[in-house]
Amino acid sequence: MARAHNFNAGPAALPVEVLEEAQKELVNFNNTGMSVMELSHRSKDYEAVHNEAISLVKDLLNVPDDYEVLLIQGGASLQFSMIPMNFLTNGKTANYILTGAWSEKALKEAKALGETKIGAASKESNYTYIPDRNSIETSSDDAYVHITSNNTIFGTQYHDFDLNTSAPLFADMSSDILSKPIPVDRFSFIYAGAQKNLGPSGVTLVIVKKELLEQSKENIPTLLKYNTHVEKNSLYHTPPTFAIYMLNKVLHWIKDNGGAAGMQIRNKEKAELLYDVIDNSGGFYKGHAQEESRSYMNVTFNLKKEDLNQKFLMEAKQAGFVGLNGHRSVGGCRASIYNAVSVESCKALKDFMIDFQQKNQ
Ligand code: PMP
Repeated sequence: MARAHNFNAGPAALPVEVLEEAQKELVNFNNTGMSVMELSHRSKDYEAVHNEAISLVKDLLNVPDDYEVLLIQGGASLQFSMIPMNFLTNGKTANYILTGAWSEKALKEAKALGETKIGAASKESNYTYIPDRNSIETSSDDAYVHITSNNTIFGTQYHDFDLNTSAPLFADMSSDILSKPIPVDRFSFIYAGAQKNLGPSGVTLVIVKKELLEQSKENIPTLLKYNTHVEKNSLYHTPPTFAIYMLNKVLHWIKDNGGAAGMQIRNKEKAELLYDVIDNSGGFYKGHAQEESRSYMNVTFNLKKEDLNQKFLMEAKQAGFVGLNGHRSVGGCRASIYNAVSVESCKALKDFMIDFQQKNQ
């Protein structure tokens, strides 16, 4: 069976080469006589996979030596709670920049645990843009400033991180991690669920500055304390071994395809294919995001009439395009074009969109 044109928002497309390699190794990994899922997480064979995944992250993102790389369960959503649990200390305020539903959810968890504030927001426009980086409200009482680097639902993305704050910068990069090079040293804390750009669901990547860990709170449950994971190399308890094995393979694939810089070139090319159709459609397709805030990962758009949205989605599905429904809070359509979505899939979607417009003008 042919592979689908997979535009799912997450879990999302994985590189076919990675899937085929995993398939080959499924019943007998590395001459162990068993699959990687059946290995002990304390075995040498598994540990090699685990440690290599961590060192590939360091290598591909140029992570400086004064940072720790952790692999944690619970998704990005657990990070919404773990961050304030560990770092929102008494007398300090957690500052959230709201750029979409995921930022709101992150804020909600912090609110339950301490003082919070909203340093900037674009809610009044239904999150069509990233607020001006120079106008965010910050103060010396900020424990941290939290941003969502790519807004999966609304299709907006930070294209630089020049925020006017000296507070530690924290970022949820779930939907654009390793889609381009980033200045890790600008951040004190980065986290990302793997299931969009890095692998299957089940593992969450955390990159945290060591200096920050020294100031973290102590009186919290063991598994929810970052220092537990640091001290045990993310092996305090049984990790999601298969998800980490797949992460390892996807990281190799990224490396073989030009690393973060290679991903950036490919992702820009894919996004431009789709935004060109929208911009040249004379209003037939309307992008949700304002141009300067457009995401290279999630292309959100509506057709000029609501009933055309439905027709578009139905015919796209029949033509083999999967996952184009927009999130209910934005409506319309969304093409998620993470690292593993091919240029060919985007070209096919572009041709389909042009053809649909000609037939339904
Ligand atoms: N943050 C962002 C930006 C997301 O896109 C998502 C998932 N779509 C989440 C957080 C939540 O991730 P998880 O399901 O891994 O908890």
